Amino acid sequence: MTLTDLDIMSAPPRGIEKFRDPAFTATGARRASVPFTSLETLWINTGTLCNIACVNCYIESSPTNDRLAYMTASEVVSFLDEITALNLSTTQIGFTGGEPFMNPQFCDMLSDALARGFNVLILTNAMQPLMRAHTMKAMLTLKNLYSAQITVRVSLDHYTKALHEKERGADTWGVALKGLAWLTSNGFELVIAGRTCWGESEEAARAGYARFFEQNEFKIDAFDPASLILFPEMDERADIAEITEACWNLLNKSPGDMMCATSRMVVKRKNANSPTVLPCTLLPYEGQFDMGATLKSAQKTVALNHPHCAKFCVLGGGSCNG
Ligand code: SF4
Ligand code: SF4
Repeated sequence: MTLTDLDIMSAPPRGIEKFRDPAFTATGARRASVPFTSLETLWINTGTLCNIACVNCYIESSPTNDRLAYMTASEVVSFLDEITALNLSTTQIGFTGGEPFMNPQFCDMLSDALARGFNVLILTNAMQPLMRAHTMKAMLTLKNLYSAQITVRVSLDHYTKALHEKERGADTWGVALKGLAWLTSNGFELVIAGRTCWGESEEAARAGYARFFEQNEFKIDAFDPASLILFPEMDERADIAEITEACWNLLNKSPGDMMCATSRMVVKRKNANSPTVLPCTLLPYEGQFDMGATLKSAQKTVALNHPHCAKFCVLGGGSCNG
């Protein structure tokens, strides 16, 4: 089964839009959905502000985008408490932004999650917000107390300065390298997130990253997909097939493999009184995916009613859980 086959199979009659009805596709077939199985990872979006503005940031972060406001440490604690109260099997709290180290209460959130025994995964660009003296000091304190529980995932869009800066802007390469060097020299567990949009094979990309890691003495295995995650681009404008219930078998995929079977993300929309729970990290602004204000209310089935569900998850095999 190829994308072309699927496109033909689900091509709607002219004039009928795709991704409108959560229950049915434009062709009238039953839309695929993903039942909630367990909460393995809870993502916290710390806020969309970022110190830079990448060309293809999926969440459109920038120094001015505050559509998702800064989460507070006490709001995060209420979700950590709810995990305990509901006796959920959650092992990991993932923190994403924007740039999480921009949030003034971020290290408190880390401390609260770590003290409760969760593993934490921090998605960062490793630039100036991390490299402030008080933040580095707080991170070293947490590292000394909870070393094995902390993983830092740093975005490095390519292993060359030219292509990394094509995505991230001028003067972003050297600063990120400084942050990476600091994290490495202080023994943080590191994962690198790259992109696959540069017209080279995965093999060539991994070999390039391997040379770069070796030159810089970063102890990261570029050939391990869990240590170097290469993400496909997410093109909002691309036409894409809708996923029907029949597609699982045709594609030999399972609903349980989707991020939304085992994850949720908490966001705080600008001017909202309280945070909202969403099924995954990929649809931060889509109101139709809001699942209420608590983890309990978010234990429900997700209809795959967005192009990202098809392109990035079901057909692309991507996952931000890496
Ligand atoms: S560093 Fe990350 S959050 Fe910030 S603009 Fe780039 S991709 Fe978006
Ligand atoms: S984008 Fe992926 S993880 Fe999110 S709801 Fe759709 S299928 Fe699930």
